[in-house]
Amino acid sequence: MIELKQVSKWYGAVQVLNDCSAQIHKGEVVVVCGPSGSGKSTLIKTINALEPIQQGEIWVDSIPLHDPKTNLPKLRSRVGMVFQHFELFPHLSVTENLTLAQVKVLGRSLDEAKKHGLEYLERVGLIAHKDKFPGQLSGGQQQRVAIARALSMDPIVMLFDEPTSALDPEMVGEVLDVMVSLAKEGMTMVVVTHEMGFARKVSNRVIFMDVGGRILEDCSRDEFFGNPDARQPRTREFLDKIL
Ligand code: ADP
Ligand code: MG
Repeated sequence: MIELKQVSKWYGAVQVLNDCSAQIHKGEVVVVCGPSGSGKSTLIKTINALEPIQQGEIWVDSIPLHDPKTNLPKLRSRVGMVFQHFELFPHLSVTENLTLAQVKVLGRSLDEAKKHGLEYLERVGLIAHKDKFPGQLSGGQQQRVAIARALSMDPIVMLFDEPTSALDPEMVGEVLDVMVSLAKEGMTMVVVTHEMGFARKVSNRVIFMDVGGRILEDCSRDEFFGNPDARQPRTREFLDKIL
């Protein structure tokens, strides 16, 4: 479903992705981890073309992102993205947050968008809050709304960039629970996270990035957690610090 072929990216003279190749298949849950500044956010932003690349190729559902002829807004509408800081529209109600892009980007009628959005709001357990504004919700609730909003677009893949790292500890679980249920339903997911409990429980694969934007490991969950001696020294060092 997603293929990166020898992707490199620079900010000015600084290389932030270095020859990154990876494949993500339909239904897979891939966790991306690694030290701060290693390019994890940049890597997943390239998958919906929020960040352009200077070298290599990226394919999403057989569409070449590196091709200037590709309709990027259309592609982005099919790739759900959830950020660390929720990024809900603060001046819009929860329902309006859920419907805006469905109407503007997908051309759905407001009624259809509401019906669809509220189904997902129900699924993340927040239907009672449909008329509130983001500022009236806790961080965990806002992030669940952000997930429902992304799902309302019927994405073919969901990208998560540290979705729980801005949350108070007591709210991490409710967001992870939503992500676990999505994974179990077969959603294709790429998740940047340091939540190794999540990685252990639901991921199929783990990609470890190292400073300089290199993919140092790309292996199955069982290889990643079960066989530390086979891992790179930098990976073991990282795991020792966070586990
Ligand atoms: P991570 O998510 O792993 O912490 P990032 O992808 O955010 O890493 O960043 C990778 C590198 O790119 C870092 O060195 C960061 O400082 C740099 N970087 C990120 N965004 C920009 C930007 N817009 N302009 C210049 N440098 C950036
Ligand atoms: Mg990041």
